Amino acid sequence: MSAGRPRTFFHCHPAGEDPGALLDPAQQVTEPWGEPDHGPCDKCEGQGSAAYECFSCLEAGSDPDCPACQGRVRFEQTCPTCQGSGEIHRTRRHGIAVFPSREGLYRYLAWKSDAEVESQVVVELAGELSEDRDLDADHGALLILPEELVSVEPLDAAVVSSIRDRTGEEEG
Ligand SMILES: [Zn+2]
Ligand SMILES: [Zn+2]
Repeated sequence: MSAGRPRTFFHCHPAGEDPGALLDPAQQVTEPWGEPDHGPCDKCEGQGSAAYECFSCLEAGSDPDCPACQGRVRFEQTCPTCQGSGEIHRTRRHGIAVFPSREGLYRYLAWKSDAEVESQVVVELAGELSEDRDLDADHGALLILPEELVSVEPLDAAVVSSIRDRTGEEEG
């Protein structure tokens, strides 16, 4: 960690909803967008480990201080969705899903074919990392317990579509 300004994280939020709610510990939970609740893990096909690709470092360059990958960018680790068991048991996770860079969040939204990108804002947050792991940790998503709202800006849907043109969406 470099000294100075505390690290901040980036979260996509509906424009019509109060981002201040993200600071309420009772609401700091993340659930999947339409993925199955239990059963065989489709992410790792039951193998228990997954290929990780840090979207933040893919877009912005490898960062040794990256809290998602420590600069490794691509590596193999325990599957975040089934937590290594090959079966999905728990999809409700503690914390707010964020990326350590704006670039990583945009890349994720471009990859996620069902992501809502109209009428959204990008909320910059500061806070501690959760003890829990995001279901999409293999793309460099983190969970934090936000303590401070640093900034709110409109999500630029044109940036999402230009990344999508360059890299394509997830399969299926
Ligand atoms: Zn990284
Ligand atoms: Zn798995």
